[in-house]
Amino acid sequence: MRDQTNSLALAERNVPRYTSYPTAPHFSAAVGAATYGGWLAALPGRATLSLYIHVPFCTELCFYCGCNTHAVRRREPVETYAERLIDEIALLDGLKGRKLIHLHWGGGTPSILGPAWLETIATRLASLFDLSELKEHAIELDPRRLDKPLARTLAAIGVTRASLGVQDAAPHVQRAAGRVQPFELVERAASWLREAGIDDLNIDLMYGLPEQTARDAAHSAELAASLAPQRLALFGYAHVPWFKTHQRLIDEAALPGPIARLEQAQAAAETLQGLGYQAIGLDHFAQPDDELAAAAREKRLRRNFQGYTVDDADALIGLGATAIGKLPQGFVQNAPDVAGYSRAVAGGAFATVKGVALSDDDRLRAAIIERLMCDLEIDLAAVEGGLERFAAEIAALHPLAEEGLVTIEGAHVAVTPQGRPFVRIVASVFDAYLGAGAKRHSVAV
Ligand code: SF4
Repeated sequence: MRDQTNSLALAERNVPRYTSYPTAPHFSAAVGAATYGGWLAALPGRATLSLYIHVPFCTELCFYCGCNTHAVRRREPVETYAERLIDEIALLDGLKGRKLIHLHWGGGTPSILGPAWLETIATRLASLFDLSELKEHAIELDPRRLDKPLARTLAAIGVTRASLGVQDAAPHVQRAAGRVQPFELVERAASWLREAGIDDLNIDLMYGLPEQTARDAAHSAELAASLAPQRLALFGYAHVPWFKTHQRLIDEAALPGPIARLEQAQAAAETLQGLGYQAIGLDHFAQPDDELAAAAREKRLRRNFQGYTVDDADALIGLGATAIGKLPQGFVQNAPDVAGYSRAVAGGAFATVKGVALSDDDRLRAAIIERLMCDLEIDLAAVEGGLERFAAEIAALHPLAEEGLVTIEGAHVAVTPQGRPFVRIVASVFDAYLGAGAKRHSVAV
C-alpha cells in the first residue's frame, strides 16, 4: 500500500500527457514546409483524413488557460485569420476528393469566427473533400458565447458534437480561476444545442483549480452529469506561469497541493462512475452505450491531440496557427504565432515550422504508449523485440509495481485501479526522449 509521501513524490513528477509520441517538445525545425508537402503528396489516394482547425482567439482569457489563444476585442484580427484559413485550405488542393471522416474545430473559441465564416469555411471543406463518410464533426464551445442562432448555424454546417467548457461550477472557484460562468448558462447552452439537433455533448471539467476542494469537484461532476452528456473529460490544471504568463493572475497560495489534487480527481471520478459513467483511460468518462466506451471495452480506443477518441483516420491535417498534423511519415506543426502562420499561408506556402520524422523505434514505442494510455495494459510478448528488447523498461517498472501501481506478470504489464491516475508515469518508462525535456511537462496528477 502506498503511503502519502510516495504518492506525493509520484504526483509531482513532470511527465507528458502523451497525446502524441514523440511529444511536441521533441519536434524540430528539421521538418519544414517542403517535407510536409512531400509527405502530403505521398498520401495514398484511399487514405482517410481527419481535420483539425485551430482558432487561437477568445473574448477574454481565463486565468487557468493553457491553450494557444489570445484575447481579442476587435473583429479585424479574427476576420483576417479566417481569410488565412481559407488560404491554407487552398493549399490542400492536391487532396481534392479524399475522404474526410473526422472534423474538429478547437481553440481558443472557434465560434468566435462567427456564423458567416463558419459557413464559408465549412463550404470550402465540403467542396474539397468527400464528406460522405464523415463520422463526426465536433466543435469546442464556450457556453458564455453561445446563443440560439449560433447553435442553429452549427447544426446547419453539420456539427454533430459540441464540447462545453465547465471546469468547476462553484462561484468561489470560478472567481479565483477567472471564469465566471453560472451553471444556468451551461444548461441553456446544452438545451439550445439539443433543440438545434446537436445531440452529442461533451463536458470538460477540471481539478486542481485555486480555492477548489474535493467537494467542489464532486459537486461540479454531479451537476455536469445532470445534463446527461455522452462524454466528460476531467483534466488537471497545469500551473506553468513561466510559460503561460497570464496564469500569474492565479493566487498560488490558493492552489491545492498534490495530495488534494489527487483527492479532487478521485472525488469527481467516483461521482461520475457512481452516476453510471464508464471511466476511459486517464481522464475521460462516457455513457456505457457511447461509442467511446464501447471502443475502450473492445480495446480499439485511440489517443490524439484532442485526448481519447475513436478517430482512426490514416492522417490528421492540422489547420491554423500552432496546429499539429500527423501523417504516416511523422508529425508536423504550424507556426505557433498568428503573424508567422499568416505570413506563410498568405504567401502560398505551408506554415510548418517543426515536426519529427518517425523512426521504427518511435513507432514501436508510440504504439506501446498509446495502448498503455488507452487500455491500461500491454502484452510486450506481442510487441516486436518482446521482453528482451524492453528488459530495462520492465526493470524500471518494478518500483511502480512495489507501489501497487502496476502488476507485471511475465511480459504482461497492467495498470492497477490505484495506478490509473499515474498511467502517464507508467507510459513514460517507454519514452526514449524523456530526460532533458522533462521539466517542460506538467505534474503527473
Ligand atoms: S475560453 Fe477556453 S481557450 Fe479561451 S481562455 Fe478560457 S480556457 Fe482558454
